[in-house]
Amino acid sequence: MENKVKTIGFIGLGLMGKAMALNLIKAGYELLVFRGSKASGELEKSGAELVDSYGAIAERSEVLITMLPDAPEVESVVYSGGVLAGIKAGTLFIDMSTIAPAVSIKLNRDLGERKVEALDAPVSGGQVGAEAATLSIMVGGRESAFKRALPIFNAMGKNIVHIGQAGAGQTAKACNQLIVGMTIQAVAEAFALAKKAGVDQTKLREVLLGGFAQSRILDLHGNRIINRSFEPGFRLKLHRKDMNIVLQTGKELAVPLYGASLIAAQMDAAIANGKGDLDHSALALLIERLAGITD
Ligand code: NAD
Repeated sequence: MENKVKTIGFIGLGLMGKAMALNLIKAGYELLVFRGSKASGELEKSGAELVDSYGAIAERSEVLITMLPDAPEVESVVYSGGVLAGIKAGTLFIDMSTIAPAVSIKLNRDLGERKVEALDAPVSGGQVGAEAATLSIMVGGRESAFKRALPIFNAMGKNIVHIGQAGAGQTAKACNQLIVGMTIQAVAEAFALAKKAGVDQTKLREVLLGGFAQSRILDLHGNRIINRSFEPGFRLKLHRKDMNIVLQTGKELAVPLYGASLIAAQMDAAIANGKGDLDHSALALLIERLAGITD
């Protein structure tokens, strides 16, 4: 195959990034990762090459992927961390983190000045989807860049959609996070109601999964609530960061997001009660507490 990408740099090997990077190795790509990352040893064992700086990763990569917590981390890696200085014209830059659309647009412009095409490509599907290579990937940027990236996306996801120009992927992700946050709240309230009424939550989940209220959140997070299993997953404080992006976007466009405002406040309360590093399904613990459920 002509012009097939061989070397991919991957920066950000956390809960999501590590699994996504491993899937790229499985698909046959040569992976360059930062030696200082916590997961670098595991990646090296699976075949990745360890590199000493972000600048050197950028310089040697045909495609560079970032999967970091938020915009400040992406900007610090790109602007002061050495990526912008090291990256060569013709490289494709793909940020798969969830960040504000405005920052994705700025990155696209600044990298474009170096003749580097950039895509925003946030994902949905959680750690389970990252491990199984079944992520939904929502992509913003030029069509030509999307076509270049598609074989790489196919190694990490299943439902891959080019949404529109730079930032459009992040806007789609903000919509996703709004729906997910409000659905967790709905499931958590329903489960608290059932528990206090003495209704078996396992049977509740089972019957609702066959009806109109069925969702992946009822399925997976319903199980987490029943099994008291709140290890992340997706950290609640990262979802709160996403609600900020949702609310800021709503403010800029004058769209009243009543439900999203409520969920952001609920998440603040959960974080204030020490739940920020638990899975976002731990919102249920706050609802239970407010409902006076003690076990
Ligand atoms: P994480 O906190 O587990 O991983 C983030 C990684 O970035 C860590 O390895 C950390 O060491 C590294 N990092 C942090 N600051 C850095 C810096 N300044 N420079 C270099 N590296 C730095 O987070 P995650 O759950 O893997 O999420 C990553 C992104 O994906 C976030 O934007 C999140 O909102 C999004 N996301 C997460 C999930 C999920 O289920 N976990 C699902 C969809 C999208």
